[in-house]
Amino acid sequence: PAEVVPQAPEDPLFGLMRAYKADSSPDKVDLGIGAYRDDNAKPWVLPVVKKADEILRSDPEANHEYLPIAGLASLTSKAAELLLGNSAPAIAEKRTASVQTISGTGAVHLGALFLAKFYKIQGANRTVYVSNPTWANHHQIFTNVGLPIATYPYFNKETKGLDFDGMKKALGSAPDGSIILLHACAHNPTGVDPTPEQWREIASLMKEKKHFPFFDTAYQGFASGDLDRDAGPIRFFVEQGFELVIAQSFAKNFGLYGERAGCFHYVAAPSSNAAEITTRVASQLAILQRSEISNPPIYGARIASIVLNDPALFAEWQENLRTMSGRIIDMRNKLRGKLEELGTPGEWNHITDQIGMFSFTGLSEAQVLKLRTDYHIYMTKNGRISMAGLNSRNVDYVATAVDKVVRE
Ligand code: PMP
Repeated sequence: PAEVVPQAPEDPLFGLMRAYKADSSPDKVDLGIGAYRDDNAKPWVLPVVKKADEILRSDPEANHEYLPIAGLASLTSKAAELLLGNSAPAIAEKRTASVQTISGTGAVHLGALFLAKFYKIQGANRTVYVSNPTWANHHQIFTNVGLPIATYPYFNKETKGLDFDGMKKALGSAPDGSIILLHACAHNPTGVDPTPEQWREIASLMKEKKHFPFFDTAYQGFASGDLDRDAGPIRFFVEQGFELVIAQSFAKNFGLYGERAGCFHYVAAPSSNAAEITTRVASQLAILQRSEISNPPIYGARIASIVLNDPALFAEWQENLRTMSGRIIDMRNKLRGKLEELGTPGEWNHITDQIGMFSFTGLSEAQVLKLRTDYHIYMTKNGRISMAGLNSRNVDYVATAVDKVVRE
């Protein structure tokens, strides 16, 4: 292969991180990062994760053995409950198959691989429809397993909200039985989510078209601070009787980024043989997992499992989630407030309407580059900012810089 391997471009996000690190200005602000930072711009180890870590360290039985192929059962079972609700009929009826994965990325990949191998229903379309825009990795993951990709409109540049009509039109005209990738909450990169009423319309349209929902959830509890609320769309689709899959990441909501904790879940539609179908699916997922990674990493899984299985720690986790989501909402309010106080041309309500880690500011590529060169403020070229990069010391500086470049 040596002769024919071309040089691949650098991952744009990692390139941005490198440029930020090399900048020696004391004013520099990193709004590219996809990880939570506290008000001192430092990574935050959740206090509940520290406690779970102490429990783990003081366990004399702890070792470094392999996990089973499907991962840590005490994690995967609680992870399914976290998504579907403790008393979900789908769980009671044994219609869920759950596999621990290499965080959310690994879950999306396992799902993609599973569909590439088995989504061969007579007359169904194997194309995966992703929102435009979406998390860039979606394109690569599905393409890598040979599933064709198409996009549906999502972001309305005028309102900086959801292009609901465009989305519905695209889902309506996609061939029946298409695979539709949906962000369960805190859409990345736009921060724009459908309302509960819009989710109901999406579900009924998808049902009519026999589309297959593929949920990606990387921000449960991190978005609104309320785990149940952030899982609302998934629970609604499951209640509607869809057969579907879910990729679940614990990177953001547990702050376990590099530990790679996550799960993939299959949910069968209710039927008399749903449990038997699910057993078959689980057996195939195990084979795919075995050939890809043999078995998933243990440390992050144990941490999350300890928290999810202990009511007191679970309550503390919810408190930690509210700390993170609360700080981000506070920064949204401060950024919008300062821009409005400065009378910055344009509307800025989208900053507080959008939710989760990211905001699509609507800044042009030229403005983004100007912010980088003149003000040492780093964000992706599409104008996406990570709210976690803002803090009480830099939010006025950022607003003032945005004000200046918008007026130019
Ligand atoms: N999906 C989406 C939409 C994401 O934003 C992310 C995190 N950037 C992921 C999946 C997966 O991340 P990880 O592999 O770190 O869990």
